[in-house]
Amino acid sequence: MKTLVDHHIHILEKSVLNSESLDRYWQRAQKNQIGFLGFSEHAYLFQQAESINFNQWQKNKQVFDLEKYYRVLAGFRQKTPGILIGLEVDFYPERLAETRAFIEYCRCCYDFDFLSGSVHWIGDWGIDLDKESYHEKMSSEQTVREKYNQYYDLIEQMIETRLFDLVCHLDLIKIFGAVDPGNEKFWNLIKILKQNDQALEVNINGLNKPIQEPYPGFGFVKKCLEQSIPITLSSDAHEESRVGEHFDITIKELRNLGLKNLIYYEAGQRKKLFI
Ligand SMILES: [Zn+2]
Ligand SMILES: [Zn+2]
Repeated sequence: MKTLVDHHIHILEKSVLNSESLDRYWQRAQKNQIGFLGFSEHAYLFQQAESINFNQWQKNKQVFDLEKYYRVLAGFRQKTPGILIGLEVDFYPERLAETRAFIEYCRCCYDFDFLSGSVHWIGDWGIDLDKESYHEKMSSEQTVREKYNQYYDLIEQMIETRLFDLVCHLDLIKIFGAVDPGNEKFWNLIKILKQNDQALEVNINGLNKPIQEPYPGFGFVKKCLEQSIPITLSSDAHEESRVGEHFDITIKELRNLGLKNLIYYEAGQRKKLFI
C-alpha cells in the first residue's frame, strides 16, 4: 500500500496531549494511508515563545509548555516511526531577531523533525480570524490589491530568511474569498522558492473555507512542479477527525499534474516519498 504524508496538524487546543490521544490521531492517519504524520503546533501557544509573540491575542494563548509538548510527542515517536515533530512559527518582521533566537533554541535543545513558517498577520490584522474584519479590510479593489501585495511581500521575506523548512499555506490571504486581482508578486514567489531551495505545502484546509480551493491552488502548484520545487501535503487539521481530509481527491489532482513524490522532514533532513 502506498503511504502519504500529512505534514501539518494541530492537537493542543482541541485535545489533551497524551499517548491515548496521539494513538487516536495515528489510527486515523493510517486509515487514510498516511505513513508520516507531522505535528506542527502553533509556536505562539507556548510560554517559551513569549519573546516572539507580538500581540495580546497571542499572549492570551501562550499557556502551554514546549518541553512537555516535545517530551510527550518524542515518547510516542520512539515507538511509532512516522511521527514527525514540528512547530508552525509565525513570521513577523518586527520580531525577526527574536524569531531567529527562538528557532536556534528549538534546533539546539530539541530534536524537532521540522520547523515550518507561516504568515497569519499583516501588522495588527489577523487575516484568518474573522470574515467581518476581513471584508472590512478588503472593501475595494484598491485595498484588496494593497493587502495582497503586503501579504506576498511578507511571504517573500519569510522565504528569504531561510529559517524554516516549509512554507505553510502560501496564499492564506484568499481565505474568505477576496480574489487576487492578478499579482506579479504571487507568481514571482516560485522563483523565490526555487532560489532558496524552499519546500512548499499544499494545504487542503482552503477547501473548507469560502475560497474552496487548496493553498496554493493547482495552477500555482503546477508551475512549482515544472520548477521541481519540493511539495508536501497537509490537512492543517485541528482535530483528529480531519487528519488526511480531502487527500484522495487532492492526490488524484496532483498526480494528474505530474507529481511523483511528496517530501517530508525527518530529523531536519528532507526525504522523498514516492506516491
Ligand atoms: Zn496556519
Ligand atoms: Zn496550522
